[in-house]
Amino acid sequence: MLEVKGLTTKYGAISALRDASLSVGEGEVIGLIGPNGAGKTTLLGSIAGLLPIDSGTISFDGADITSAAPDKIVRSGLSLVPEHRRIFADMTVEENLKIGGVTISAAERGPLLIEMSELFPVLQKKWSTAAGYLSGGEAQQLAIARALMSKPKVVMMDEPSLGLAPILVDQVFDLIETLRSQGRTILVVEQNATRMLKAADRAYVLRSGEVVATGTGEELLERSDLFDTFVGG
Ligand code: ATP
Repeated sequence: MLEVKGLTTKYGAISALRDASLSVGEGEVIGLIGPNGAGKTTLLGSIAGLLPIDSGTISFDGADITSAAPDKIVRSGLSLVPEHRRIFADMTVEENLKIGGVTISAAERGPLLIEMSELFPVLQKKWSTAAGYLSGGEAQQLAIARALMSKPKVVMMDEPSLGLAPILVDQVFDLIETLRSQGRTILVVEQNATRMLKAADRAYVLRSGEVVATGTGEELLERSDLFDTFVGG
């Protein structure tokens, strides 16, 4: 469904991502793990069209989306839950969700809003509250719900458990499990490597901008030689 081949992305002269390749099949939950600075956010940003890539190709659902504009990529069915959530603090929960649904028709938006309120009861309770008043866990749920409002075929999440208390981290992984059971396709960047490998069908390990290992979650959990990479060396 999503195929990334030989992707290189640079910041100035420095390659943050070097010749990285990955694939995501329909219905898979794919983990992307590695230490700080490994290039995980750069990889998601490159796929989402937010960063100019140096070389490589990205195809999605049979179409070449390499260097396509971010809104075109969202419309093609790829949605990103960005690092640090980036919700609109002055807008209500409902308004944030409606913004997530600007790429779909008004007729589709109404039923989807109802679906989100059922999938995220916490948000339903705060429907008319300004998003700036949400707790960290609630804000993360809003960021994920907003991404789902574009009816994506693939959802990319950048460190959804970052900065959350352990019980809220559990909630995030429960939510990923729920989304998986709905048949959704998800690519997740996580610092919490062990947890991610248990939740993922397959995963890719990034280090210094390169994919250094890939396999099923179970296979990678056995790779004690990669432990230093998982936890950041
Ligand atoms: P983290 O877990 O800390 O978010 P990451 O694996 O997501 O790390 P990236 O944020 O993609 O890593 O960063 C990869 C490399 O690119 C790092 O060396 C980082 O310092 C560098 N980098 C990231 N953003 C920029 C930028 N805007 N300008 C210059 N260098 C950058």
